[in-house]
Amino acid sequence: MKRRDFLKKAGTGAAAAVAATAIMAPAVIAKKTYRWKMVTTWPPKLPVLQTGAERLAKRIEECTDGRLKIKVYAGGELIPPLQTFDAVSAGTVECGCGAAYYWAGKMPASQWFAAVPFGLNADGMSAWFHGGDGLKLWEETYAPFNVIPRPGGSTGVQMGGWFNKKINSLSDFKGLKLRIPGLGGKVISKAGATVVLVPGGEIFLNLERGVIDSTEWVGPLHDLRMGFWQAAKYYYYPGWHEPGTYLEYMFNKKAYESLPKDMQKIIDSVCMETEQWTLAQFNALNGAALQTLIDKHHVDLIKFPDKVLDGLRKLSDEVVAAEAAKDAMATKVNNSFQKFRKVIGTWGEISGKAYYNDIQKDYPLKV
Ligand code: CA
Repeated sequence: MKRRDFLKKAGTGAAAAVAATAIMAPAVIAKKTYRWKMVTTWPPKLPVLQTGAERLAKRIEECTDGRLKIKVYAGGELIPPLQTFDAVSAGTVECGCGAAYYWAGKMPASQWFAAVPFGLNADGMSAWFHGGDGLKLWEETYAPFNVIPRPGGSTGVQMGGWFNKKINSLSDFKGLKLRIPGLGGKVISKAGATVVLVPGGEIFLNLERGVIDSTEWVGPLHDLRMGFWQAAKYYYYPGWHEPGTYLEYMFNKKAYESLPKDMQKIIDSVCMETEQWTLAQFNALNGAALQTLIDKHHVDLIKFPDKVLDGLRKLSDEVVAAEAAKDAMATKVNNSFQKFRKVIGTWGEISGKAYYNDIQKDYPLKV
């Protein structure tokens, strides 16, 4: 059809405008908007952890141009924190945020995706997930529950905890009442301590009143916020029990797969971006908080003696072996983890470790 004929058929004025609108229509079709809920295991406003989940939701909304809006609920606001995994699995909510070791009772294998005493640090965990078969095994572990996991970033090496008594040998743990969760707690029990489970909000009071003798929490940023320096004399390092604790985001499989492919990829990319963001926050903010603890609160920083760490390491090996023997998936995950740890450890010895040892003289610890 010639242009002149077309114009004659379409008419002029209002009719032409209608025709033009009809031609333009495909570009302005309303986009479908998804509204999801995310529940987390964290208290409201907890820096980097809860605020990180809220940041992730905002980034996903930005990157999908508003097509996926996620409302984030802190632990207890919608469901109890430790029901996060079940809620995502059942599809009660579309997604969640936590740490995989919380689900150890359901699947022992989950613990390797969060923290293993004397295991991989943040760099090593990231390498295992994205350069080894860590993430593949994590997906396999969660698959029977219809949950898709995504690594959420690491806290870095945590601190060893707050004590009112010096730990000079392994036997000094005997009779102590400690708040230390997970595999680390199992190791400390073997050393003769009593592990007491105390919810986050009650730790300070229990420590101050002597209901517990010691507690670990996270690192300087979160420990400063809890005020532990007012209730305990010694701040021990390193956090042998949580050398690179990883956080997780998880998605209900059906909900994830109901999204257009590009939006699934955006979720994956924003999760990976969040990994980088999380570790960067912990490193930057822990450094500043440690300086405050040293300069302002004159905290007595003490390194666990080598022989104490050696003793804890032996007990940890026993605990990890026993956990790995619990089922076939845990055995498979542990085998992959230990193999990877050996390979990356040798590389770390001649790269990161050698370098840190050298530059350490620029940053002598003044306490
Ligand atoms: Ca901890």
